[in-house]
Amino acid sequence: MSFTHSHSSLPLTTAASVLKTALNSDRDPNGVVQARLCAYYSCTVKNATISSNSKSLTPPTCVQARASGSGPSLAVGLDRVSGSNTHTFDVVIVGAGIIGLTIARQFLLGSNLSVAIVDAAVPCAGATGAGQGYIWRVHKSPGTEKWELAMRSHHLWEAMAESVQNQGMDPLQTLGWKKTGSMLVGRTADDCSVLKKKVEKLVEAGLGAQFLSRDELRVEEPALELGEEGGAAFMPDDCQIDAQRAVVFIEKVNRSFGAEGRYAEFYHEPVTSFLRSESNGGIEAVQTSKSTLHVNKAVIIAAGCWSGSVMHDLIRDAQIKLDLPVKPRKGHLLILENFKSFNLNHGLMEAAYVNHESAVLSSATSDSEAGFVANNASISMTATTDTTGRLVLGSSREIVGFNTEIDESIVGRIWERAGEFFPVLKKESLQELSKTREIRVGLRPYNCVPGGKPVITPVPGLSKAFVAAGHEGEGLSLAMGTAEMIYDMVLENPLKVNPEPFSA
Ligand SMILES: Cc1cc2nc3c(=O)[nH]c(=O)nc-3n(C[C@H](O)[C@H](O)[C@H](O)COP(=O)(O)OP(=O)(O)OC[C@H]3O[C@@H](n4cnc5c(N)ncnc54)[C@H](O)[C@@H]3O)c2cc1C
Repeated sequence: MSFTHSHSSLPLTTAASVLKTALNSDRDPNGVVQARLCAYYSCTVKNATISSNSKSLTPPTCVQARASGSGPSLAVGLDRVSGSNTHTFDVVIVGAGIIGLTIARQFLLGSNLSVAIVDAAVPCAGATGAGQGYIWRVHKSPGTEKWELAMRSHHLWEAMAESVQNQGMDPLQTLGWKKTGSMLVGRTADDCSVLKKKVEKLVEAGLGAQFLSRDELRVEEPALELGEEGGAAFMPDDCQIDAQRAVVFIEKVNRSFGAEGRYAEFYHEPVTSFLRSESNGGIEAVQTSKSTLHVNKAVIIAAGCWSGSVMHDLIRDAQIKLDLPVKPRKGHLLILENFKSFNLNHGLMEAAYVNHESAVLSSATSDSEAGFVANNASISMTATTDTTGRLVLGSSREIVGFNTEIDESIVGRIWERAGEFFPVLKKESLQELSKTREIRVGLRPYNCVPGGKPVITPVPGLSKAFVAAGHEGEGLSLAMGTAEMIYDMVLENPLKVNPEPFSA
C-alpha cells in the first residue's frame, strides 16, 4: 500500500492560501479542529520486542482497535498511487511518539511545508504509550539547563488546553487535561528543608508554590502518612495530560492536513537506511522497509530510545562525530480500576524521585549491551488518578536493554513503596486486585550525560538532519517546547529558548 505526496512542489501562494482558509474556517492556531474528537485507536503496549538495532527492529505488539475503518498506515485524505513507493516531502520525521507527532503538528500549523511521519510501529508503541502524563513544574528546578525549555513547553501545553476549551471541547476528554495540583512529598526534616528551598526558588521564579506542613497536608491528603517530620512542596495549579488521548488529538489535527496533500503517515515501516548524495553527502531520502521518502528540507530523528541506533545508521561512513548515547530506561506503571480504599485529591511524587530521574548511570554509559545490568531497579512513589478516575501508581527505573516484559517483582515493589506512603494499601492484596489492574511498561529515552538532558539539534556537518531525542521521564512535558525549537531551527527563525544545553 502506498500513498502519493503530490504537493511538495505546491506553489507557495496556493499552499499558503489553502492553509489560511483552513485556519480561518475550522482550525485555530493551536490546531483545534472544530469537530468532536472521536477515538481513532487505543494502543496498549504488551511485551514489545523492539531490538536496539534499527535494522532488525520488530514492531512492538500492539492491541489495536480502530473506530474508523482505515489501517494504521493510512494518511487520511491522501490519494493512493498504485505501483509507486517513492514520495517527496519537505520534512520527514522518524518516530511517531509524542516528540515526533508534536513536531509534525508544529510544521503543519506553522508553515506550508509538507510532512511525512514514519514509525516502525504506531504512535504510543514507544515510551509515549506508557507515560504517566505529568506536565508538572513542582519537581523542576529554576535556573537549571532545562528550566527555560520546561517553562516554554508548559506554556504551550496550557495554550493548547485553553484553545481546546475555547473551541467548545472539553480539555479533560480531549487531552486528559486535569488540574490535579502537584505535591513533592518528603518524610524527614532534611527532605523538608530541601523542599522549602525548592518552594522559595519556584516562588522567586514567579510560580504559585507553597510548602505544606504535615498538618496542612492532612487536610489536603487525608490518606497520606508521612510521619512527624513530613511535609510537601505544593503547586495547586499544576496539570496532567493523558498521553494516549493527547496523541489521538494531535494525530487528528495532523491528519486534517492530509486532504491538502501536506501530511502522510507511514506506520509499520521502520526506517532502514538513509540515502545520501554522492557529491556532498547530504541526505536525499529516508529508506523505510517499504518506501523511499525523498526529503527537500529536513529529516528529524525523534525515535525515542532507538534514536542512537537510527543516528548510527544515518552518519555511518560520513566522517561525522555525533555522540548520542541515548539508552532505554525501562519503567513500569500500575493502574487500578475501581479502587475505593482511599481518595487521592492531588498528584503526588516522593522527593527522592528527582534524584532517581536525573541520576547519572555509569553502567549505561557503556556502548556495550553488557553495560546494562539487571537488578538495578530504583523505585520512587508517584500517585495520581487518571481521566477515568483510576489510581495510577509508579514508578520504576531500570537499565535492562530493550526488554519490555512485565516484571511482577517490580510491580510488587511499586505496590510496597506506595504502601509506605498510604498505609491503607497494606491491608489490600495486590493479587486480589489482579482482575482490575493494568500494567504499563515503557522505555524512557535516557541520554547518558550529566543531567540526562535531551538532544535537540541540527546534526553538525550533515545538512538537513536534526535530532530531538533523549527526554527520559520528561518527554510529555517537554514535547511542545521541543517541537517549537526544532521548527525554528529548521526554518532558521529566532529561537524562543536557548538551544545551547541541548546540542550534542
Ligand atoms: C512509566 C513512565 C512514566 C512516564 N511519565 C511521564 C510523565 O509523567 N511526564 C512526562 O513528561 N514524561 C513521562 N514519561 C516519559 C515520556 O513518556 C517519554 O519521555 C516520551 O514518551 C518520549 O517520547 P518520544 O517520542 O521521544 O519516544 P517514543 O514514544 O518512544 O517514540 C519513539 C518512536 O520511534 C519509533 N521507532 C523506533 N525505531 C524506529 C525506526 N527505525 N524507524 C521508525 N520508527 C522508529 C518507535 O516505534 C516509537 O513509536 C514516562 C515514561 C514512562 C516509561
